[in-house]
Amino acid sequence: MTERTIYLDPDVRPSVSRKLTVQAYRWYASVELDRDDYLYATTERGREPDLPSAYKEALDRALLASTDRIWCDGYRGSFSWGEGARCTTVPVPFSEVEATVEALRVAELEHNYHQLHSLADRLELPIEQWLSPGERELVRGVDFQSPPRVFLDFLRAKSNTWGLRLNGRATAGSVWVRPTLPSIQKTIREMYPDQYPGWVDRWSGYTDPEDAPIRPWVGGRGQNLSHEAKPVHFDNIDITTGRNCPCGLSFRDQWDEGKIHTAHHAAWAFGIHVPKSLMWPGNLAVVRPNSPISWRNLAAKAGRMPMRENHYDFNSWAYTGEPEEAPANDRAFLLKANDYVIGYLVATDTSEHRRWDLVDGSRYDANDETLRPRIDLIWIAGSYRRQGLGAELVQALADDFGCQVGDVSWSSPISDAGRQLARRLSPDGIWVS
Ligand SMILES: [Zn+2]
Repeated sequence: MTERTIYLDPDVRPSVSRKLTVQAYRWYASVELDRDDYLYATTERGREPDLPSAYKEALDRALLASTDRIWCDGYRGSFSWGEGARCTTVPVPFSEVEATVEALRVAELEHNYHQLHSLADRLELPIEQWLSPGERELVRGVDFQSPPRVFLDFLRAKSNTWGLRLNGRATAGSVWVRPTLPSIQKTIREMYPDQYPGWVDRWSGYTDPEDAPIRPWVGGRGQNLSHEAKPVHFDNIDITTGRNCPCGLSFRDQWDEGKIHTAHHAAWAFGIHVPKSLMWPGNLAVVRPNSPISWRNLAAKAGRMPMRENHYDFNSWAYTGEPEEAPANDRAFLLKANDYVIGYLVATDTSEHRRWDLVDGSRYDANDETLRPRIDLIWIAGSYRRQGLGAELVQALADDFGCQVGDVSWSSPISDAGRQLARRLSPDGIWVS
């Protein structure tokens, strides 16, 4: 076949003629009928004339048959086409290009749709028959031409759209199939008949005739553990569930099949994996703005966990550029267990504090100008909470600074979890700033 453009209206300038264009792709050719300029020149602007219904019906048949045929031959992709009065694209096997060009030409110029129908007749596959109930062998070269595995994949895709289970097997020169209807598909179709108009169950209760072909045993497949099983019972009970997962993401964000949530949730629950390349003796690391970048990046990764969980706009650890000296001695304490960072505390030193008795609603009093380490944020991985690890991190901060646990300051406002921890460590009151 040759790629080319054929002008259907020889009496007018090519630019306003209807055009048939033949283009080749890897798996098929497309024949496109372009009426855009022709309609623009011959009809009122903006008015889109409808195709005659007999034309549309013939086109739809040809399109359905040819796309099925191309898929059956092994093509895995989709088709992009124009449908409507302005542009019509018909993807066809290479062998049918000339017939399609001719069929579209006579349909367009003579309003004769027989050739489109006979194109559909030639390309149409007996899918109804292939997916009928019962065991059958389809033979390469007789029933289909493509390699048996390719053909079986096509049949599987077709049975999926029909709600059928195929139970198929490819041999060297044929494909064995036994389409069955899973009870759940039957239930769904009977519950929502409007979504499946004209659907008839031909599969349930089908018994093979005496002389049905017997599929040779080819090994591998174990016994069918669902044979004669009773269907599961379904019901709908009233429940309410929260929108948000404890990790901070929404349960409803499933557009990526939950992959992002799954990865984030795993990190939230058991921490950030420590890269093997990072030598980390002991289990506590104090990372500063002038530490090596791999450590500062690890702190930033840990910082993302409380950020998502508490819906903060900014990461509490932002030192991921050039090493720098931070005037207020900013630092992140990373706590490791089982090769994961499971605890994260960010602190800075300040000398403006007030006293709070930890009673909800009561005011701060007593100004204090002692230099104290202030906890800006503290986070423990979800699966490690309620084991006193937060208190250990605060103790590590006090030790690093050289003060008592009761001397540290807490950045205000304090989260609920922070308040609980502060009450446990300093029941009589805390410094806040
Ligand atoms: Zn989650």
